[in-house]
Amino acid sequence: MRRRYPQHHPRPDDVAVREDDAGFLLPERAIRAAVEHAGALGARVEWETPIVRMEADGAGVLIDAGDRSYRVGHAVVAAGPWLPAFMPTLPVPLRVERQFLSYQRYGCGPKSAR
Ligand SMILES: Cc1cc2nc3c(=O)[nH]c(=O)nc-3n(C[C@H](O)[C@H](O)[C@H](O)COP(=O)(O)OP(=O)(O)OC[C@H]3O[C@@H](n4cnc5c(N)ncnc54)[C@H](O)[C@@H]3O)c2cc1C
Repeated sequence: MRRRYPQHHPRPDDVAVREDDAGFLLPERAIRAAVEHAGALGARVEWETPIVRMEADGAGVLIDAGDRSYRVGHAVVAAGPWLPAFMPTLPVPLRVERQFLSYQRYGCGPKSAR
């Protein structure tokens, strides 16, 4: 590890796992690239446009953005953790949870079994 990645300073008893297929994305750059690509394919991007209400009827979906409204054939809502508040009448039970992730050394705890 030290030889290959001199920028890291593992302790002598640290264990490293190297995964050749692994990687990471810088979210802001990835999102910008995705938005630019969508624009290049013909999407119109409306920044800073909070949607107040959406209503589906037989003709499509009416999107109310306060000072503007849009009528579209279909709508995909990707409001993340705001979804339950934005669409409280969705017939699907949604609950936003915080999921913690932690890394433990295998076999060190008193109850660990190998
Ligand atoms: C601190 C932190 C670190 C994380 N690190 C990682 C990581 O390392 N790797 C990983 O895979 N995931 C990570 N995640 C999780 C990841 O950010 C989410 O899983 C992902 O962003 C979910 O994407 P999404 O598009 O569903 O929702 P979001 O990214 O939450 O997007 C929802 C969007 O909807 C918009 N919106 C909501 N309501 C309205 C409305 N009424 N009108 C208009 N727009 C609205 C919001 O402004 C927001 O832009 C992290 C999350 C947090 C909080």
